[in-house]
Amino acid sequence: MRQIGSPADHAVAGRGPIERLPMIALVDEDAAWRSAAAAALHACGFRVEVHRSIEALMTEDAAGVPDVLVVDASAPGVDPLGLHAGLRTDTRFARCPVLLLTGREVDEAVDRLCEVGAVDVFAKSTRWVALSARLKHLHRLVSVQRELLASQERLAIVYDSSRAGSFDFDLDAREFRGSAGSFAIMGFEYPRVSISEHEFMRLIPDEAHRLELRRRTQAAIRFEESFSMDLPMRTIAGQRLVARVEVDPYRDAGGRVSMLRGVIRDITDRVRAEADIERLTSADVLTGLPNRNRFIALCAEAVVAARAHGGRLAIVALDLDSFRRINESLGQVAGDEVMCLIGERLSGALAAFSARGAESGARPAREPLLARLPGDEFAILLPRVRDQAEINALVDSLLVDFRRPFAVAGTECFVSCCAGIAVYPDDGDGAGLLLSRADAALAAAKALGSQTVKWYGSMRKAGTGTRLTMLSGLHKALERGEFELHYQPCVDALRATPVGVEALVRWRRDGVIVPPIEFIDLAEESGLIVPIGEWAIREACTAMRAWHDAGTGIPQVSVNVSTLHFERPSLAQTVRDAIRAHGLSPGMLELELTESCTVRDFDSTLGALQALRELGVGLSLDDFGTGYSSLSYLTRLPIRKLKIDRSFVRMLGVSAEDEAVVRAIVALGRSLRLHLVAEGVETPAQARTLLAMGCRDMQGFLFAPAVPAHELVATIDRIRAIGAVTTPGKRAFETPVHGAVLSGEMR
Ligand code: C2E
Ligand code: MG
Ligand code: MG
Repeated sequence: MRQIGSPADHAVAGRGPIERLPMIALVDEDAAWRSAAAAALHACGFRVEVHRSIEALMTEDAAGVPDVLVVDASAPGVDPLGLHAGLRTDTRFARCPVLLLTGREVDEAVDRLCEVGAVDVFAKSTRWVALSARLKHLHRLVSVQRELLASQERLAIVYDSSRAGSFDFDLDAREFRGSAGSFAIMGFEYPRVSISEHEFMRLIPDEAHRLELRRRTQAAIRFEESFSMDLPMRTIAGQRLVARVEVDPYRDAGGRVSMLRGVIRDITDRVRAEADIERLTSADVLTGLPNRNRFIALCAEAVVAARAHGGRLAIVALDLDSFRRINESLGQVAGDEVMCLIGERLSGALAAFSARGAESGARPAREPLLARLPGDEFAILLPRVRDQAEINALVDSLLVDFRRPFAVAGTECFVSCCAGIAVYPDDGDGAGLLLSRADAALAAAKALGSQTVKWYGSMRKAGTGTRLTMLSGLHKALERGEFELHYQPCVDALRATPVGVEALVRWRRDGVIVPPIEFIDLAEESGLIVPIGEWAIREACTAMRAWHDAGTGIPQVSVNVSTLHFERPSLAQTVRDAIRAHGLSPGMLELELTESCTVRDFDSTLGALQALRELGVGLSLDDFGTGYSSLSYLTRLPIRKLKIDRSFVRMLGVSAEDEAVVRAIVALGRSLRLHLVAEGVETPAQARTLLAMGCRDMQGFLFAPAVPAHELVATIDRIRAIGAVTTPGKRAFETPVHGAVLSGEMR
């Protein structure tokens, strides 16, 4: 290799700044032509490298990557196609434009050469000025093209963090032309300028998808409509990927649609994350048992079956006593092991229970089902029970079974548990409701001490009265003004500042506060939830106005909206009237919807959400992870915030595997660019883990429980004060705000 036009050469020649001069690598067998061309091009301002052959170019030490390669394509004994393929696999030259010198007419071989990456052809001659002009033009063209590609790639990155590229589909030439990004997605190692429709279609292995793409393309042309579609594809090397194409039709000067223009994005990671989450959200990672979501889904089926045959079913919720102590004394790994052993022991006990049923001729129509709920809770579904005695016998045998120690980490440990029981149809007729009632009974049992069993039915009788008296009480509650809203701050945990408050309804019945879990379901069943919801929206807006006027710095109030209310067209009007009446800017109000809201009827949901969105009010998805919505719906809903359900937050710190679920949810939320709020944060450790995962906004007893309106400002000041006294390096949330819970934590 010989180099002409080194920086020193130019300094001697006294030409302008050398950095801007294009570097040409000249490849030709003909030594005389080679040196004449080099001298002439150097005189025209280029830096020039000369090589005998392409092999020499690739093996000799080049001074740098050339800006343009000038290659003689007619050299005897050279297979230009082969040489080019070799050239293109060499990363130094893969993106380098090639000017082919040909002594013959542009023939078929040259055409094919252009296909593999040559960008221009020049008839070989001694017309140096013409060659120089062509090279300068080519260099300018390639620089502009590179800049364009770079800005397209930058745009694609801004548009979506996943890989992306833009493309045109020429309907006349039936050709797909794309940016480097779009070809990279399809696995081309160097950017192609275009591929035929046929080549593109070959990358879509499934015929049904090809047909669908054709059908939508035709519709886009015919009706001049944009469309987007997720396409399972394969790269040219056969690797699977999922690409989202977003396509807009374009008219030419004659007004005819002759081009489709769009963006192609590699969404494989997102799709994979969704699948992972779907898997992770239906089974407990540690024990492999069904988790809460799956359990509720299976309970719902069992309720339908029980309703059909007029039978009864029971849900038993179990909570381990002081499990945290085992984690603390033996370490989390051993704690996880104990948790698995408990799962196995419970499964064994249930198997024995069904075997006994079979022996006595009373075999249940369906086997009992064991699930692990978040934290240290398990739940059992008994799909067909005869009477209370049968359930008591099972629960007693489980408690007895727990008396045997669990062998772990070279030692033996003892674990006991409490149980709460709810029965269909006596205690409720929905799966979620029954589980929450079994949970309520469990909480009452735990309050009485270890190894206690409590029936929801007995609490109901002793407590709030029958369903009928509840219902008549609810009817009167609104007119009597017995409802009140309590407010729980949502806090940016890093700065200890409130980012909003959530309004939570309370029923002050005969002077005693009734929590929503006791009456929301009944209010839904009776339709009373709609006037209650309307009242809550108005009440929250009144409060927001007062906080705003008092300069409290509370930016937003959110109100829970039930599914039934959401389906009423009057909701948008209620919201519009309430914000207008109080002169609030719409962003000061947020509505919280649950996932089940969004799955019943997607299209009408979308319409209702858009109407609310147009009003400018915030929309968030509450209790995220507990519903059954297809996660891909989320991308299409005008929702900007996800509230991670507290059942997931509870998993943090209980087992390492469980943390993966929360991490996956946070990652999904972030990849969908949704704002994340973690609910039910009770301990500094949970807050720290969430922060490390990138979730800053949190709600929970760690900061404050829901408090009456008149206590809110003081509560928020307390949270802010913690932030203000925070010493550098120490995070605000490490100082407890809600003492009662934290003293429990520190015990
Ligand atoms: P949600 O909207 O998910 O509200 C959060 C619930 O978690 C509240 O319970 C809150 O007090 C509780 N919570 C907050 N921090 C913690 C914590 O650190 N640990 C624990 N264990 N719990 C915490 P609450 O007030 O009993 O409300 C329960 C549910 O009732 C709400 O869940 C919501 O679905 C419903 N609800 C409440 N108010 C309304 C309302 O005005 N309208 C409708 N439709 N539903 C409401
Ligand atoms: Mg809520
Ligand atoms: Mg929630």
